[in-house]
Amino acid sequence: MEWFYIIIFVSGLIFGSFLNAYFWRVRENKSIWTGRSMCTKCKNKIKWFDNIPIVSFLILRAKCRSCRRKISWQYPLVELWMGLVFVFVYYHISHITYHIPIYIPLVVDCFIIWFLTLIFLYDLKYQEILDRFTLIPAGILFIGILIFQFFNLSIFPSVASMLVGAGIASGFFLAQFLISKGRWIGGGDIRLGVLMGVILGWKLTILALFLAYIIGAVIGIILLIFSKKKFDSQIAFGTFLTVATFICMFWGDGILNWYFRLIM
Ligand SMILES: [Zn+2]
Repeated sequence: MEWFYIIIFVSGLIFGSFLNAYFWRVRENKSIWTGRSMCTKCKNKIKWFDNIPIVSFLILRAKCRSCRRKISWQYPLVELWMGLVFVFVYYHISHITYHIPIYIPLVVDCFIIWFLTLIFLYDLKYQEILDRFTLIPAGILFIGILIFQFFNLSIFPSVASMLVGAGIASGFFLAQFLISKGRWIGGGDIRLGVLMGVILGWKLTILALFLAYIIGAVIGIILLIFSKKKFDSQIAFGTFLTVATFICMFWGDGILNWYFRLIM
């Protein structure tokens, strides 16, 4: 159904727009439930017609209507990413046969990606992973999947697999945290490990940990080669973990199958 792709895309844009607003309000310690959208610089209220995802950014030519100061590229990029990734998720799962309505995995996957994007951006920008970005979705997913399993809808990792995965990832980070006294890794990574386990189950969690280190090493080498200044500013590890988790959600089983065929 082609028209459904348009609905999904527009939903993604709206959720992306909401992510931007939430991201800023968390940083500014503002309530997410009250108050209208405002310019982050002059604090003037944004009218509804200036708050349309992507479209308004283009019409306003990346400038606030009131103060004419620049609007960050983060806004349209996050909106576009969410729109496209929602379409991708729908495309991906519509090629898998489920014995349950397709909107269940669709909603669950979009929910997960929304939080992964939030963690990625926040860690990239502020080198910090807030507990409410990891523990709240982990709790909701865990309870949700518990309910699904009660009804025998086992398209998600089993509860045992989720718990073992969460234990492996968070234990792995906790060990590093204790050994380095918090210098290598932050406490937020430990909680992100819990979320990874709940999303992926134990097998894919281990794969995601490997992948995160590989991605981190590749990016590190690229930065070393192309930047004149030496590589002292470290990129927060949570950004690599979220990218690796996203990859494993959709291609993890494929990567594992490919790898075991290779070594068998
Ligand atoms: Zn302004």
